[in-house]
Amino acid sequence: MRAAPFLAGVLAVLALAAGCGDHSVPPAGAGGQSSPVPQTSPTEPDALSALPAALRPRVPKFPAPPTPTPVTLPADGKAGWFSRIPTTQKVAFITIDDGWSKDPQALKLFQAAHVPITLFLEINAIKSDPGYFKPLQDSGAVIENHTISHPNLKGRSYAFQKHEICGGADQLAQYYGRRPVLFRPPGGTHDATTLRVAHDCGMKAAFFWKETTDHGKVFYQEGHTVQPGDIILMHFRPRFVDDFLAVLNAIHKAGLTPARLQDYIP
Ligand SMILES: [Zn+2]
Repeated sequence: MRAAPFLAGVLAVLALAAGCGDHSVPPAGAGGQSSPVPQTSPTEPDALSALPAALRPRVPKFPAPPTPTPVTLPADGKAGWFSRIPTTQKVAFITIDDGWSKDPQALKLFQAAHVPITLFLEINAIKSDPGYFKPLQDSGAVIENHTISHPNLKGRSYAFQKHEICGGADQLAQYYGRRPVLFRPPGGTHDATTLRVAHDCGMKAAFFWKETTDHGKVFYQEGHTVQPGDIILMHFRPRFVDDFLAVLNAIHKAGLTPARLQDYIP
């Protein structure tokens, strides 16, 4: 079952540079089972020409990603925790959070770039127009879990965190037909309970990041270049096009190629 897209009188919320903004608190479901990850999109030769001419030269071409080498996950009843995937392969991972700003050019950009992308969607940010993300999913982006209402989870009870994490996964499964298996805690803040709850809710791993993006610029936590295995954080913000192109070009400049985060999590 998928909710019908509403007319998007969506107000774009500028989130904080490092994490994302805070929002309010609606209801949730619970439980559920995982389903297979959708395959990446077929090649679309005309995708680049569908972009406005001024954007076309800004979309870099990447080699195909290598055969993935999955990480080892903890066996202690907790989800894995990564800010980069430990690998020497020349790959980086594009992740895009929340979903408040719904840029009409995102789909064409995704199709033109033709790279693996993970979307960590917050229910409150998408529920005014969940249909916006369906074509992005159909283009190969994988939708993963970012809670219902984007609270700071650190220090909160097991029950509170379960409501947010299981509930987010359950609702995304209803909207998009696949229950997420990966998780990003809002703002990256978490504690041991978060990783236990994430595991119990069916999330195999949770993620921080090594680079962020805003206003068309990439900000590095270490050094001046994207390193192999780095997870890059973006948001659905008003300058989505510039942010996305900045991320692509930073990965390209580093001699890396975008890879699928799900392929590195067994
Ligand atoms: Zn967020």
